[in-house]
Amino acid sequence: MTMKQIKKTPKKFVIANWKMHGNLKQNQALLEAYVKTLTGLKNTQVVVCVPYPYLAQAQSILQSTDIAWGAQNLAKNEDGPFTGEVSVLMLRDFGAEYVILGHSERATAYCESDENIAQKFMMAKKYGVTPILCVGETLIEREAGVMELKVGKQLDAIIDLYGIEVFADTIISYEPIWAIGTGLAATPDQAKAMHKFIREKLSAVVAVHKNSLKILYGGSVNPQNAVQLFLVKNIDGGLVGKCSLNAQEFEDICHAAELSAE
Ligand code: PEP
Repeated sequence: MTMKQIKKTPKKFVIANWKMHGNLKQNQALLEAYVKTLTGLKNTQVVVCVPYPYLAQAQSILQSTDIAWGAQNLAKNEDGPFTGEVSVLMLRDFGAEYVILGHSERATAYCESDENIAQKFMMAKKYGVTPILCVGETLIEREAGVMELKVGKQLDAIIDLYGIEVFADTIISYEPIWAIGTGLAATPDQAKAMHKFIREKLSAVVAVHKNSLKILYGGSVNPQNAVQLFLVKNIDGGLVGKCSLNAQEFEDICHAAELSAE
C-alpha cells in the first residue's frame, strides 16, 4: 500500500471531482497535464477524485508528485456481502487519501440519507482517509430562506451520532445544489455568509484544532469566479467539477487559489 506525503496544513485546497467522466487515455493526458503545471504549489493542496476503476491509474501517475488522489464515495461497512460496494480499505490499497461524501448527485439519485452519509464519514475517518463532506441547499430552500437550516441539519446528522470533534482534520464543501453544473455560481457574498455560518456552528472544533477544518466552496467554479471566491477570508478553496476536466481551466483555478493564499 502506498500512502504518499502531502503538504502539512496547506492554506488552500482545490479538489477535482471528475464524476463519471474519463477513460484510460483521456485520464492519462489530463493527469500528466496536472503534473506538469500543478506540482510544487506552496500554499495549495491539489486533490483529484476519480471514478473507482481509475484509482490505480491515478496512483501510478501521481505517486511521486505532491498531487493527492481520492474517490467519490465509499461503503458504510468495512467488508462483507455488499455487492457493488467499495470499502475504505480498498481505497487505501490504492493510496487514496480523500473521499467525497454526500455529493448531492448521489444523495438525490441514490437516496442517501444524512445518517448514511454520517456513517460513511466516520468510516473514512477511522481509516485515515479525509472525508470531503458536501452540504448545500436546493434553490427552493434558498428562496424560502431556509438554507442555513438545511446545512445545519446536514451537519447535525454527524454531530448527533459522533460529536463535534469528528470534524477535526476534515473538509466540508459548501455546494449549493442550484449552482452545481449550472454555470450559476454563488456570489462571493452568498458563499461568505454560509461559510461563516458553518464555521460558527463548528467553532468548538475550529477553536481547538485551528486550521484542521477546511471549508471549500463548490458549484460552477471557473477560472474567472475563482479569483473572487478564493479571496473571501472564510473560503479555503474549491471543489471543482466541470472545469477540472479541462487542464487549462483547472490549472488557472489552482493558481487562483495559490495566489489568494499569499
Ligand atoms: C461538483 O461536482 O461538486 C461541482 C461543483 O460541479 P461543477 O463544478 O461542474 O458545478
